[in-house]
This record gives sequence, C-alpha cells and structure tokens, in this order.
Amino acid sequence: MSKFDEVVDKIVACTLCSLSSTRINAVPGEGSKNADIVFIGEGPGFHEDKRGVPFVGPAGRFLDQLLASIGLSRNDVYITNVVKCRPPDNRDPLPEEVHSCKPYLDTQIDLISPKLIVTLGRHSMSWFFPGYAISKVHGKPRLWNGITMCPMYHPAAALHNPNLRSVIENDFKELPNILASLEDIHDDPEEQTKQLSMF
Ligand code: URA
Repeated sequence: MSKFDEVVDKIVACTLCSLSSTRINAVPGEGSKNADIVFIGEGPGFHEDKRGVPFVGPAGRFLDQLLASIGLSRNDVYITNVVKCRPPDNRDPLPEEVHSCKPYLDTQIDLISPKLIVTLGRHSMSWFFPGYAISKVHGKPRLWNGITMCPMYHPAAALHNPNLRSVIENDFKELPNILASLEDIHDDPEEQTKQLSMF
C-alpha cells in the first residue's frame, strides 16, 4: 500500500478527537496524488459527512465551476480540509480538533508536494498564516515552507455574498498565471523568495 493510501486509511479510522464520535464518514480528500495544486477548505459539512467526499454540497458545485473556468477538474487537483470530520452543526473546528488533525494535512502536503496551495476561507488561511485579514490578502501568493500558498475566499462565502462571487472568480482566473510564474522562477529560489515573501 502506498504511503498516501496509508494516510487515507488512518484518517478513515481516526478516533483522535471527539469529532469521530459524531461523524458519519471521515473525509480524507479527493483528487490526484500528483497534483500541482492542493485546495484546502475548513472541514466537511452535511453533504461531505454523508458521502465521505470533500466539497460536494452547494459550495462544492461552485468550486467545480471555478475549477472548470480555468480548465481544470477535480481529477487534476487535490481537495481536502483542515479537519477531516464534520464539526456538529457546522460549527468552527476547535483548536484541539485542528491540532489532532494537523499531522494528516502535514503528511498529505508532504506526499503530494504541490507547487501551489490554495486555502479556501479564513480558517484554512489561518492554519498557515494566523492573524491576517482575508479581505486584505486574498489572491496574493506567498511562500510557506518553500511552497507557494494563495489564500482565497471560501466558495460558500461567495454564495452568500454576491459581491464576493466575482472576487473569487477573478482570483481563480489568476491561478494559471501564478503557476506559470512559479515555473519561470522555479530554478531561482532567491528570486522566488523575493517575489513571494509579502502579501
Ligand atoms: N466547506 C469546506 O470547508 N469543506 C468542505 O469539504 C465542504 C464545505
């Protein structure tokens, strides 16, 4: 069994925090283990808990449209969440739940080794860069542990607030350019650090 599948199995059987007692299904993630881009949401909701697959409710349908707008599908990327089990009533995950789940996301990122991480929503952004306002930094790439990370609004927020819809659509349209610019500066880590060290 591959290391990647071992992690998936561990997530599915995990009982490290109390979310395991209220979930229907753990939601490890979906997509390609060789993806250039990893999308990270906050945590599974009602539909995801039922199916064991990330972003399959209304926000997920919008995410599919956003991916299609840049010529991608779920199979081309990897989609996961900071916590792998649904918090009851979709409340924010507690710090101890995020802490218990952290090694899974760390290992997934390590094994996929993406060129770009896109965080969806402020909770997911805070996992990487606590203390920033998403309204100020969305769409702006920055380096995290040698990987480029780009924060975006959560697709669900855009569904509730029509003004955010065009913001997230425009941020998504920039993703191919960000990837292409990474290829350009790929061989020059110093240049990469210079270009990506500030939000
Ligand atoms: N919202 C998230 O953050 N993740 C999901 O998987 C679904 C909705």
